[in-house]
Amino acid sequence: MLKGKTAIVTGASRGIGKAIALKFAELGANVVLNYRSSINAAEEVAKAIEAKGVKALLVQADVSKFEDGEKIINAAQEAFGSVDILVNNAGITKDTLLIRMKEEEFDNVIEVNLKGVFNCTKHAARVMMKQRSGKIINISSVVGLAGNAGQVNYAAAKAGILGITKSVAKELAARGITVNAIAPGFIATDMTEALSDKIKESIKSNIPLRKLGTPEDIADTAAFLVSDMANYITGQVISVDGGMHM
Ligand code: NAD
Repeated sequence: MLKGKTAIVTGASRGIGKAIALKFAELGANVVLNYRSSINAAEEVAKAIEAKGVKALLVQADVSKFEDGEKIINAAQEAFGSVDILVNNAGITKDTLLIRMKEEEFDNVIEVNLKGVFNCTKHAARVMMKQRSGKIINISSVVGLAGNAGQVNYAAAKAGILGITKSVAKELAARGITVNAIAPGFIATDMTEALSDKIKESIKSNIPLRKLGTPEDIADTAAFLVSDMANYITGQVISVDGGMHM
């Protein structure tokens, strides 16, 4: 399905990013794995990708830095000659109630989760516009749609991603480029592992499908959105959340 394509996944050393990278490799894409600091974990993902008979390229970069966005895109283009798919997945949380939230906790989450999407998308757009093709997926969150106590910074960033998604979709559609967002609900990764069992149980009871999602649930949706089966879908937000937000 993705044979010969070049896919970039940010924050790909673990969790949802890792699952998406592995899925794309399974479908035949060469994958550019961006990681910030976990080189060992990223190398393990690269090995697993190459075992599927495609190529992996590791790029260390902090997506919150504008020049690092350019570094990722340039490395992909130099190695593989094209940038067909970009998944803006890298994200962090710094949760606390508004009243306790420090300015730097707000700024850090916006810089990584929101500005990081701008930094990578801007540089990828330059290449994709010349190619007159490309598919971009931004990983938002149910929290960006519904809000969440204790996540003012995260909710602002994830809602902002939806604005970027729709605006860039409108700007790039004429060049044959689609831009969509996935809004995961609660997915079992290191990010949610940090929550207490009590909170996890209470979350589950509010999910109509009564279970947390898996990184593979998100990877399957990403695979659909970058496939030819989704060629006429752009500017959309697809919730993958067990029915949490309807
Ligand atoms: P995770 O913490 O397991 O993975 C996040 C990855 O992003 C890590 O590999 C981390 O190193 C990387 N990263 C963080 N800051 C970075 C930076 N500045 N530059 C480059 N990479 C950086 O989390 P996850 O659960 O796999 O989340 C992946 C994405 O999905 C995030 O955007 C997250 O907000 C979103 N999401 C997760 C859930 C969930 O329930 N797990 C729900 C909704 C949305």
